[in-house]
Amino acid sequence: MITYDAVVLGLGVMGSAVLRSAAARGLRVLGIDRHHPPHALGSSHGRARMIREAYFEHPLYVPLVRHAYELWERLERESGTSLLRITGGAFIGNEDSGLVSGALESSRLHGIPVDVVDGAELGRIFPAFAQQPGVRAVLERRAGYLSPDRCVRALLDRAEESGAERRIEEVFGWEIDGSREGGRLRVTTDGGEYLTDSLVLAAGPWLPSLAAGQRLPLTVERVVQAAFAPNRPTDYRQESLPVFAWEFEPDRVFYGFPAIDGAVKVGLHHGTPVPDPDSASRDVSTAETAEIRTLVRKFLPGADGPLVEADICFYTKTPDGHFLIDRLPGLEQVLLVSSCSGHGFKFAPAIGELVADLLTDGTGGFDISPFSLSRFEGG
Ligand SMILES: Cc1cc2nc3c(=O)[nH]c(=O)nc-3n(C[C@H](O)[C@H](O)[C@H](O)COP(=O)(O)OP(=O)(O)OC[C@H]3O[C@@H](n4cnc5c(N)ncnc54)[C@H](O)[C@@H]3O)c2cc1C
Repeated sequence: MITYDAVVLGLGVMGSAVLRSAAARGLRVLGIDRHHPPHALGSSHGRARMIREAYFEHPLYVPLVRHAYELWERLERESGTSLLRITGGAFIGNEDSGLVSGALESSRLHGIPVDVVDGAELGRIFPAFAQQPGVRAVLERRAGYLSPDRCVRALLDRAEESGAERRIEEVFGWEIDGSREGGRLRVTTDGGEYLTDSLVLAAGPWLPSLAAGQRLPLTVERVVQAAFAPNRPTDYRQESLPVFAWEFEPDRVFYGFPAIDGAVKVGLHHGTPVPDPDSASRDVSTAETAEIRTLVRKFLPGADGPLVEADICFYTKTPDGHFLIDRLPGLEQVLLVSSCSGHGFKFAPAIGELVADLLTDGTGGFDISPFSLSRFEGG
């Protein structure tokens, strides 16, 4: 039986990025997914994923996202595929909202150029937005969006060019092979068994069930994403509307993109907790699309046209909304990678690099201690 340097469980955007970076370092790696990636059954699908630099969640993400921009651009050149579209971004809310104050804090600390305008000015610059009194908008030039399927495909193609292997199998479980602490692991699938020195758990919303009985502080949320054909298409073109996020009530965020293939993708940055992604309904109800349409009417009135598509996706959330990237306690050779609380896609190639650093025992250039599991201990 072959022994791999690393097995990557799950080939959404995170696992694909890890596979690519690990293979590029010369590691013998196997990626396993139970569906053919890119697919629409996990968290890495849809028309678009936002990328932005004035990171409202915390300034610590700014160096990581800057690295990710470089790596996405490099991947575009290497793959000859367009992955990233810069449209600018508008981050909107009351002056004291976490979204506006957080974006300004990251901008100030990291010297990111932004403009701040009021609601009337926002509506003048971008006629797609309804004019709302009392709001502030932080306008960022470098924000834009990534094309999810193309990104996953490009990462997997580069991984395979560097020698990574890939299998479409369902992982049933894994265990230490023998009794030696720090020893090899045996991964069991519906297609066979694999021995590996390290295991990267990148199973997204299925991660909690694959952590060998360890209770991880994670909640999986079922999230709806929808796309509408605009009634006033010229206001919603990529040249006319930036990507945006709008905190319309404390901690309630509506977000969206300019029209892609004729439809404006929008959603709420929150979902409904589900005990198990496999039992969550994949049908989107009329009530769910009606809730999103109400926000479209209020904030993007010219986008209130026919519903083009609506589907579900999952957030894998930590209690504080930040990432979880760490080794499994007591099992140094098992890495937890894909709990990014609904904002991780943009970082994938940078996370792939830092996980490849961990796999090769490098220290890397990025301190991941803020993403440690131990921050939840005792809480
Ligand atoms: C609606 C929505 C909008 C989002 N918007 C943004 C955004 O604008 N910007 C941003 O940066 N991020 C965004 N995110 C978050 C981002 O998309 C996710 O953080 C990211 O896609 C997670 O990828 P992943 O690879 O960790 O998980 P997934 O994509 O879920 O991949 C997990 C993989 O593991 C496989 N798997 C699971 N169990 C098994 C098993 N037993 N055997 C084999 N394979 C298995 C699955 O088939 C799946 O392919 C959004 C997420 C959602 C849902």
